[in-house]
Formats: sequence, C-alpha cells, structure tokens
Amino acid sequence: MINTFMPINRILMGPGPSNVHPKVLKALSKPALGHLDPQFIELMDEIKDILRYTFKTENDATFVLSGPGSLGMEACLINLVQPGDKVVVCVGGYFANRMTQIVEKIGGKVVVVKETWGRAIDPNKLEYALKQNPDSKVVAFVHAETSTGALSDIKTLSEIVHKYNALVIADTVTSLGAVEVQIDKWEIDAAYSCSQKGLSCVAGMSPITFSQRAVDHIKNRKIPVQSWFNDLNLLLSYWSGPGKRVYHHTAPSNQFYGLHEALLLLKEEGIENSWSRHKENSLKLISRLKELGLEPLVPENERIPNLLTIKVPDGVDEAQVRMDLLNKHNLEIGVGLGELAGKVWRIGLMGYNSNERMIDYFIKSLKEVL
Ligand SMILES: *Cc1c(COP(=O)(O)O)cnc(C)c1O
Repeated sequence: MINTFMPINRILMGPGPSNVHPKVLKALSKPALGHLDPQFIELMDEIKDILRYTFKTENDATFVLSGPGSLGMEACLINLVQPGDKVVVCVGGYFANRMTQIVEKIGGKVVVVKETWGRAIDPNKLEYALKQNPDSKVVAFVHAETSTGALSDIKTLSEIVHKYNALVIADTVTSLGAVEVQIDKWEIDAAYSCSQKGLSCVAGMSPITFSQRAVDHIKNRKIPVQSWFNDLNLLLSYWSGPGKRVYHHTAPSNQFYGLHEALLLLKEEGIENSWSRHKENSLKLISRLKELGLEPLVPENERIPNLLTIKVPDGVDEAQVRMDLLNKHNLEIGVGLGELAGKVWRIGLMGYNSNERMIDYFIKSLKEVL
C-alpha cells in the first residue's frame, strides 16, 4: 500500500542539513513557474542581487547552481583549472581533500599544503608552498572545514596568493551567512556555498560567484571547459543579460522560491547581526559543554562558530550516544569523518537553529544520555 510520506520532525544539529525556517517551507509549496517565465527571470535577478549582498560582492557572475555544494566545488575548479595547471590545495580535512580529487580528475597537478586536522591552515605553510611553486595557477582552500570544525583566515591566505598572482578559490559552504565572508574586499576570485547549512534552506542549491578576473580567465582558456553542465559560459547565457535568457537546464523553481525566502530572512536580520548571533551562541554552547567536562577539539580562535567539534570522552560509546539522542530525543548530531571517525561529535548551530532554545534542548538531552 502506498501512503503519503510523512517525515519525523527531527531537530537537526549536525553539520547540515539544518532545520528549515517555516517561512521557507511555506515558500517551497507555491505554484511552479516555467524556467523562462518572465516572472521567474525576475526572481532569478532578485536572487542574484540578494546573493551579492550575502557574498559581499559586486560580481556580475553571482548566481545559483541547481545542485548541492559539491557541484559548486566542481564548477569553480573545472572552470578555472586547465589540464596541466599547477594547483595548490590547502588540506586540513575531508572537504579540502575532495578538492584535490577533483583537480586530479581534471588533469591538474596538485600541490598539497598539509595541515593537521582540527587546525586552521597555517599561512606560512601556504607561503612556503608558493615560493617553491611560483608557477601555480590556482590556490584553493576551505574557509570553514566542516569535517574538523576549524576556521581558516581566508583574508590572510588570499593576500598571500595575490602576491604570487594565482587565482583564489574559497569554499564557503559552511561559512556563508554565519561567518564573515567578504568576496570583494578579500579579492576572492571564485567561491561557492550551499543552501542547507548557514542559509536554513533545503539542500540542493549552490550559490556561486566569480570575479571579473576569473570570468576573463575562463573566456581566454585554450582548452574548453571539460564539462557541459558546469561550463560558466553556458550557465551565464541562462543567468545574465537583460531579456535574452537561453535555456540551459530546467531550474527547480520551487527550490528557488525557498532560497529567495531564506536570503530575505537573512537580509531582514542583517548579515552582520547573523554573524554575531552565531558567534555568541557558539560561546554559550561551549561554556555549557565545559560544565559537563567536554572539550572542543579546535583551539579557541580557530573555531567555526556554527559547527563545533567536541572530543568524545574516554570510555564513552560515541555511536550509542548519537543513537540515543536520535531515538530518545529526536535530535541528530554529526559523526567524525576520516581521521576523526569515532573521536569527535560535530554539533551544528546553523542559521535558524542558532538560538538559546536549541542550546538548552541539546544540553538537557546530552546530560540525560550521558
Ligand atoms: C557540506 C560541505 C560540502 C559539500 O556540500 P554538499 O551540499 O553536501 O554537496 C563542501 N564543502 C564543505 C566545507 C562542506 O561543509
């Protein structure tokens, strides 16, 4: 027998997805529009505008990919890297490691700047790698490494890259909306994010932005972009220009309504206020966890405010704790990835969920389970 599916209303306090704001859920159920409908094109233009506010950029090439954050990662790399290019990737966790895999598939030469999992990328290590490899074309790093909880200083890292004249790609999947991101001021050439973490929307959309320098670089490539779906030249024929939009793929109109509503909520709050809210709630959560004898993995001034990794205490069955939280308290938290598997829990206080009520509920539930 086929019944209408009714999901459990979970409390999502892992590394994403986070809970979706009720206004966003409502926006998702509005009537569908065709992907070339004049009203839909208007919505696309509004999304571009409000994304420029969110990314702090004037970049014309600021839009949304119809796919998860990983699609944005691939889009930035596949457009900016040509086979044979030397690419420096700063790797201190699972997601940066994925960047190296993509560069290898493109046929780029990867130079890895290796960092300890749970630490911010050391700018001196990047500087050293660029001194050894001054012919590097692109440098890529993750701002907020969700697998470890470490936040890197992208302003300083970008300044170093510019001295060597390479292009900068920054992963802002977890940071956008929750942590300060300044695309223009820090001269980031390409950045991507997702919809389901700091932006409190459903998964499946990837906000992305390219500087004029990056767009020119792509236009002047000798080897055509090795992807059809992710070729910026084709994507821009759908996303830019007044009244001359060309079909590229069927944009998911209802998802775009949701993203637009989520971005409006962020603008209504004021993005600077959102950054401070995430910081304040992170500090509250950490002090409550310390009262329980739990310790963060990452040193104090390198922590992502919306995603905290805490060490699993000796003698505690980490999987059992997660299962009890889920089954008895309806609450999902994250598991350790890669090198940190079994060693940490990952607690998200992202977007809509970054508030005192969530902290109270989490601490109360964790106390009972422990
Ligand atoms: C979640 C995440 C991704 C991948 O995003 P998906 O939406 O799961 O594809 C990439 N980078 C970082 C830092 C992430 O946290």
